Amino acid sequence: MSAPFVNRHIGPDEAQVTAMLDRLGYASLDELMDAAIPKSIRTTDPLDLPRAVSEEAAAAELRALAATNVPGEPMIGLGYHATVTPAVIRRNVLEDPSWYTAYTPYQPEISQGRLEALINFQTMVADLTGLTTAGSSLLDEGTAAAEAVALAFRANRGANGPFVIDADALPQTIDVVRTRAAGLGIEVVVADLSDGLPEGAVSGVLVQYPGASGRVADIRPLIEAAHEHGGLAVVAADLLALTLLEAPGTMGADVVVGSAQRFGVPLFYGGPHAGFIAVRDGLERQLPGRLVGVSIDAEGRPAYRLALQTREQHIRRDRATSNICTAQVLLAVAAGMYAVYHGPGGLRAIAQEIHELAARAAASLAHAGFAVQTDTFFDTFQVAVPGRAEEIVAAARDQGLHLRLVDADTVGLSFGETTSVATLRALHTAFGVVPQAVEPVAALPTALARTTQFLTHPVFNTHHNETSMLRYLHKLSNRDYALDRGMIPLGSCTMKLNATTEMEPISLAGFANLHPFVPAEDAEGYRQLIEELEGWLAEVTGYDQVSVQPNAGAQGEFAGMLAIRDYHRANGEGQRDICLIPSSAHGTNPASAVMAGMRVVVVKAADDGTVDFDDLREKCAEHAEDLAAIMVTYPSTHGVYEESITELCDIVHEHGGQVYIDGANFNALLGYAKPGRFGGDVSHLNLHKTFCIPHGGGGPGVGPVAVREHLAPYLPTHPLHPVADRRDGIGAISAAPYGSAGILPISWAYIRMMGAEGLTKATAVAVLSANYMAARLGDHFPVLYRGDTGLVAHECILDVREITRLTGISVDDVAKRLVDYGFHAPTMSFPVAGTLMVEPTESEDLAELDRFCDAMIAIKGEIDRVEAGEWTVEESPLRNAPHTARALVGEWDRSYAREIGVFPAGIDPDKYWPPVARIDQAYGDRNLVCACPPIDAYDE
Ligand SMILES: *Cc1c(COP(=O)(O)O)cnc(C)c1O
Repeated sequence: MSAPFVNRHIGPDEAQVTAMLDRLGYASLDELMDAAIPKSIRTTDPLDLPRAVSEEAAAAELRALAATNVPGEPMIGLGYHATVTPAVIRRNVLEDPSWYTAYTPYQPEISQGRLEALINFQTMVADLTGLTTAGSSLLDEGTAAAEAVALAFRANRGANGPFVIDADALPQTIDVVRTRAAGLGIEVVVADLSDGLPEGAVSGVLVQYPGASGRVADIRPLIEAAHEHGGLAVVAADLLALTLLEAPGTMGADVVVGSAQRFGVPLFYGGPHAGFIAVRDGLERQLPGRLVGVSIDAEGRPAYRLALQTREQHIRRDRATSNICTAQVLLAVAAGMYAVYHGPGGLRAIAQEIHELAARAAASLAHAGFAVQTDTFFDTFQVAVPGRAEEIVAAARDQGLHLRLVDADTVGLSFGETTSVATLRALHTAFGVVPQAVEPVAALPTALARTTQFLTHPVFNTHHNETSMLRYLHKLSNRDYALDRGMIPLGSCTMKLNATTEMEPISLAGFANLHPFVPAEDAEGYRQLIEELEGWLAEVTGYDQVSVQPNAGAQGEFAGMLAIRDYHRANGEGQRDICLIPSSAHGTNPASAVMAGMRVVVVKAADDGTVDFDDLREKCAEHAEDLAAIMVTYPSTHGVYEESITELCDIVHEHGGQVYIDGANFNALLGYAKPGRFGGDVSHLNLHKTFCIPHGGGGPGVGPVAVREHLAPYLPTHPLHPVADRRDGIGAISAAPYGSAGILPISWAYIRMMGAEGLTKATAVAVLSANYMAARLGDHFPVLYRGDTGLVAHECILDVREITRLTGISVDDVAKRLVDYGFHAPTMSFPVAGTLMVEPTESEDLAELDRFCDAMIAIKGEIDRVEAGEWTVEESPLRNAPHTARALVGEWDRSYAREIGVFPAGIDPDKYWPPVARIDQAYGDRNLVCACPPIDAYDE
């Protein structure tokens, strides 16, 4: 019998827990938690969850669940296609902790590997779409389209007219766009564009290329018409088709969006997949989401980092280009690597083969007397089968093929990388005919054939054998600092263990290869898993209903705000549109509220960091008629349990508002308090924080929205939901009915293996560790906020402002110097500028906590030497951090010894070496380059 999983997940063992408690002066975890958590919110009943099982048992249960899904050959299309994940990419990216446990690359010096992988992705998208600048991923195709609609609206400084969408666009895209546009007050018209645009001005036009039906039409006239009508031309395109079809950018499109799923990313029952967006010259400052750019480091060498961050919600808040924060980095890395591995020729060959198979099937079915309705297509066509569509789809299902039931008289067939000659035989059996060896007709219009080159950069033309690919992947991940190297003490991000047993199931065929629109009876395993997970999340949060559809925390916020909006409308109080948000809130809060059509009013913070109740009362009274909601984070972003939360909820309720509790910090509450019980009406959780889904270097994520009963009718719906009564309603938030379903087994496994007691203990140890660090570090860096009993919650803010004032050493200097000591920096300057927010989580053992504290204390010693005048700031090892391996050789004219620079914690053969020195952020924004730089840029 191996040890229970809880002992594997929680870092400190009993002796270490006791040692930490001793240091803090508490006799037990219970005593500590009694002191830390306010009585007013404390639950006493144990969580009602199934008993914890072992890792082996959970793995077996998940295998059994996966086995009840029936992936078959997915020929439904609609933006999701069969693809083959090259094994070298599956094992060395998707299943490799050096990629999947990384954090968002806000510390670029220690993220050069994934930044290069993302710039490959951007280059790939920009090349294939024929546009100048592509972002480093969005959440999915539907939300990418919605972002493009908002972008068109902004670029036009308000709408000139409606936004027009092609009726042959993906149905889920239309629905997601409608949900978003309603919040923003943009009128959307869905129209058959085969005969051109409707009369009148437009803010933009979205055309699907190829269409949902598979049709490949010349989109140039529509692009021109969009421009003539004063709008932007947005094309939702299939990247694989673009290897054979001329690039939309070349044809004049302003924006191209889509999904990179079929570039080697498993179907995952709908997600996670990398959505993409690319824009023409002049629109790059309008781009939503993150953008990787090239800059230079302190030694003048090229280095990657996130560009134009001032567009993002962290800075612009309610005026941000989008609420997107977590995106789909891991999947963008995988898709980009698929292009690196296959190269332009390999991709074209895959596309050609798929096309030829589809053309053969169409010709053969036509020969057998069926009317093929799509005359120009790439991989998808529709067949008229009057009155027989259900029967043929059912017959195909018996043959192991999932076809698209378009309507009672039409079926759709979509070919992919796994369809073969055997598929053709099964297909013909389903249609009741024998395959015919007929000449396929040319279905791709020659006038649209691609003439422009793509993926000419050497990176796409070098690593085509597996040895080279493997080494390239490891070269990049070696440049990065992820959880496989050491702790990542990021406040508000909960970088805890992503256990191998939690991760393994995502590769099981039953979970990985299922198309999101298969019939419900072929997704039994997912249905059971999702139902159980939603139920468990409802239990731990104290809410009545949960939806896992939102595929990031910010999407959960948006879904929750929409629920509030529609609830008020249903009560005849549609005028309620004011959302109060404390000044310390995470930037996604105001950005999401605005997207849901709310007006944001900021509530001040008192000196102790809590909400200023005088200001709260005043704002509530002032807006009593139109108060919609308050959005608060609990524990607050200051990492403190406020006693006053229940009173805050009461005040807002008394004024007719709803309470949104941002549950991203749920790691401080799980098992001890339930937001649905202490005053919240709705919350989101971040499964990629509290519930062990890895951050993936900036995504994927899952942001379930949890509501009390009165808001349950306003949870996200989806036009193709497997459950019929979830199809109509508030609309879709994500492109797939269950969002990023493919990673839900991770959180399911975590809860299953921890059980009620284990989860509750994890919270206590997380709080213990944070307080231990606050105690050890507090003498050196003041802890900015503490609760009434002197305790912090699961994280603590270290104040560096006085140090900066006295010495000129900034939080940046401390953060970069931590790299020399072998650490990832804490969260910088959030929620308070000039501070560092540390969140250790329960997974780091005492040795690692102490190693970090020792490093911080040693850094404080270095700061003292600056203060004493021994080093100037400019000449200090802090300002010159991080030190690369180049510092070991050549001239040394610094005012400190070489050893102090490179081995401040003593000579360490296992030291992590950052590949670049400190990066000049501003240089990169002044000289914006967001594609792979030419190789000679790296010449020494
Ligand atoms: C992480 C976080 C969010 C945003 O979550 P994403 O998944 O990145 O969209 C929102 N609020 C708080 C307090 C957070 O810490």
